[in-house]
This record gives sequence, C-alpha cells and structure tokens, in this order.
Amino acid sequence: MTPPQPGARVLIIEDETTLAGMIAAYLSRAGYDSSVVHTGPDGVRAARDLAPDVVILDLGLPGLDGIEVCRQIRTFTDCYVIVVTARKDEIDTLIGLSVGADDYVTKPFSVRELVARVQAVLRRPRTGSTTASGTAPSEPTRVFGALRVDRDGQRVHLGDVEVALTPTERDLLMALARRPSMAFSRRQLIDDIWGTDWVGDEHLVDVHVAHLRRKLGDAPDIGRYITTVRGVGYRMGQG
Ligand code: CA
Repeated sequence: MTPPQPGARVLIIEDETTLAGMIAAYLSRAGYDSSVVHTGPDGVRAARDLAPDVVILDLGLPGLDGIEVCRQIRTFTDCYVIVVTARKDEIDTLIGLSVGADDYVTKPFSVRELVARVQAVLRRPRTGSTTASGTAPSEPTRVFGALRVDRDGQRVHLGDVEVALTPTERDLLMALARRPSMAFSRRQLIDDIWGTDWVGDEHLVDVHVAHLRRKLGDAPDIGRYITTVRGVGYRMGQG
C-alpha cells in the first residue's frame, strides 16, 4: 500500500449512512482525514468550507442530485471528484464538459477499491505544485500547431486563449504531450494517470479524450491534436 499523502482531506457525500460510515472508516484506517455529509446541499457547502482534496460523490442524493452537486462544486474547486453510481450509462455525461467528474465506481463496489481510487488520484501531480519527490523538473512548453502545452505551469492555450480543463483532462494532455511521438495504449494512459492499480473499464480514457477534443475545438471522434492510433490508442497530432 502506498503511504497516504499527509493532510489529504476526503469529503464523502453519501446518503446511505452505513455505507458512508464504512467508507470513512476505511479512509481513516488508510490515514486520510475524512468528513461525511448526507445531502446534496450539505455536500456543496462542505466542499466549499472544507476545501477537500478529493470528493466521493454518490449520485442519488436527497435535496440536490449528484450531477448538480458536481456541477456546482466544479465552479469553485478543481479537487478530484470520484462519483459513485449504480448506472453505468450515466458515466459519459458525468465526465462531460459541464459536470467534470474525474473518475467513478459503479455500485456495487468494494470499499477497498474505492480507497485505492482515492490513493491513485492523490498520487497525481497537481497544478502549480511540485512533483511527489519535492523537486519540479523543468519541462519545456510543447507546441502542436495552435495548441501550446505548458507543462511547468500546467496551462494549455489554443492560440491566445487559455483552455479551461478539468484535472483529468489536463493530466491526460500533459501525459500525451510529454512524449509527443509516442502512441499510448489506453492502459498506459491509465497507468500514468489513474495508477497501475486502477481496475475498471478502459473506455474511461475514450470518454475523457472525447471531451478534451471538444475543448480543443475538434470533433469528439477525430482529433487534430489528439489523434487516434488504430489498434493502439492515442498520440499527439500536429494540429
Ligand atoms: Ca444514494
């Protein structure tokens, strides 16, 4: 097990009190500081007040549904959001532009698996922060036609306009841009971004790529900046 990141705070928004308590117990055993709320409006308030690093969000909530909670949370924080849903067909919407979840688990799930997801997102480098080793290596800004990817500043510009990305979209683009000539398989991208212990449907990568392409002005299924490599996965294009 990876040691927990010191001071990492997790907010659990879940109306099933037994399940919420169980998730909180596992998280504190793993060394995290967790808080639990049971309704949508309390979730939005707590996300604002507690400034969590990760939010675990159940979709079926009283007061305000999880999709709306996620949308509201996204207006003031770029913390990682892991959604808990019973409906797999909602996932494309969830990761979508206006909702901006980073990862999901489908019910029924094991709490151990959920805790592994929390650990995986917390291992990712954050905007403006140094790397896990404490030293931020200097990364060149890479240019792909009109697209400029500044890995040091974790910023992305299309022409003169900065593109607003969710944390996962940003991580995905940074990973691809780091080795622009390499064709990445979905699993390689998952290992890089979600972590090698992530277990789930690799379609998650395609969903994030589709939304990222849209933000870069491309069609979701064809990208000038992120090209599909048939039989392999994805690679940066020249724009
Ligand atoms: Ca529920």
